[in-house]
Amino acid sequence: MTVFERVRLVRWDPAAVSEPIDLLVGDDGRIAAAGPGLAAAHPEARKGGSGGLVSPGLVLGHTHFYSALARGLRVDIAPSKDFAQQLEHLWWRLDRALDDVTTRWSGVAGAMDAAACGVTTVIDHHASPEWIDGSLSVLAEGIGEVGVRSVLCYETTDRNGQAGAKAGVRENERFAEEADTARMPRLLSGGAPLFAAMIGAHAPFTLEDGTLDALGALCKSSGRPLHVHVAEDKYDAVESRARRGLDPLVRLDRHGCVPKDTIIAHGLWLSPEEFALLEERGAMLAHNARSNMNNAVGYQAALPSLRNWMLGTDGMGADVLEEFKFAFFKHKDSGGPLWPDAYLKALGRAGNFAARMLGVEALELVPGAPADLVHWDYPAPTALGADNLAGHLAFGLSSRHVKSVMVGGRFVIENKVPAYDAEALAARCAEAGDRLWKRMTDMERKA
Ligand SMILES: [Zn+2]
Repeated sequence: MTVFERVRLVRWDPAAVSEPIDLLVGDDGRIAAAGPGLAAAHPEARKGGSGGLVSPGLVLGHTHFYSALARGLRVDIAPSKDFAQQLEHLWWRLDRALDDVTTRWSGVAGAMDAAACGVTTVIDHHASPEWIDGSLSVLAEGIGEVGVRSVLCYETTDRNGQAGAKAGVRENERFAEEADTARMPRLLSGGAPLFAAMIGAHAPFTLEDGTLDALGALCKSSGRPLHVHVAEDKYDAVESRARRGLDPLVRLDRHGCVPKDTIIAHGLWLSPEEFALLEERGAMLAHNARSNMNNAVGYQAALPSLRNWMLGTDGMGADVLEEFKFAFFKHKDSGGPLWPDAYLKALGRAGNFAARMLGVEALELVPGAPADLVHWDYPAPTALGADNLAGHLAFGLSSRHVKSVMVGGRFVIENKVPAYDAEALAARCAEAGDRLWKRMTDMERKA
């Protein structure tokens, strides 16, 4: 057992901050109890730390760890006039160059970043079109080596021909079956699997109708929702209406591709009718404010009227609290009416979403839940309570306050010291990065 002493327990939604109490984590990796006097009553328990805040682990709602080795990329990238060219010149060159080695180390690099930011579950959208079969298992292993949970899918696309599309569907199916058999030890991770599966698809403009049929059928047979980009750039919406005569989300829906809990990433150019459909289906919008700014694709102005949305970084690091701040400031900059509490609720929704994907009742600090938590060394310089918790997140609390991170009762980071050899792993990641960059250059020469 592990006990945290005199900590203030935080809940995102509804916002709550307790008085200092003790939190007990059982040997089964689950929250055992919370209340006063637990440390005294369990002198045998390992000391997890004292003071500060303990919150549920953060959930990253949409990312691409395949881009984790793109940081500081030393490859000649042609300038792009628009988003479609950006995909062509950079991202589709990068994902084509990924192989087993670089996929694995992308997972390690991404997961170390996530852990350091207090993220305990990442929802990832993977692509490695030259090496599809088995890629999700290797990515899961890389992430699992760090000790963070992941919800993975393969981004099926027709842009590399029918064989590529079929291989994408097959990889989603294979990995969903693997997740069902849950090969990783459930006990160590607090009664929840370390990895889970969704069904992945790139974006409507790179998906033919036959592939959508196959994906819709797989969502149904596997009981898993889709994870897809829709209308990230205006082109996706225009292409769908001009070429297929349908709004992109309506088109997906006609193929059975919008079951409950489907993640619609970005959705900047969805019509009001599509937003209504998104909510009617119980789908979840993943809002990626920084990525939208970086790609200059526009602003997601519909947030105030949406119920189901969460935050993603879209591969721009894994710092959810930083994304929280960017998303809020961008919203204010656009003249929007939301307050930080709306973003706090989004953290809560992401936690509940991840719980559903992992098949557990809750990822909160309640008895019986997996002990996925963050101990924050946050000496609040002003009063802190449920009423102003969101303000502390927008203007104060950040990943520099992460002291310890626990996943399923196991410390991934304890007292600022990772359980893994961060320096050695980072060096291996950098070697893999060199390999990836070289392959990008070599493949371009051959083409
Ligand atoms: Zn994305």
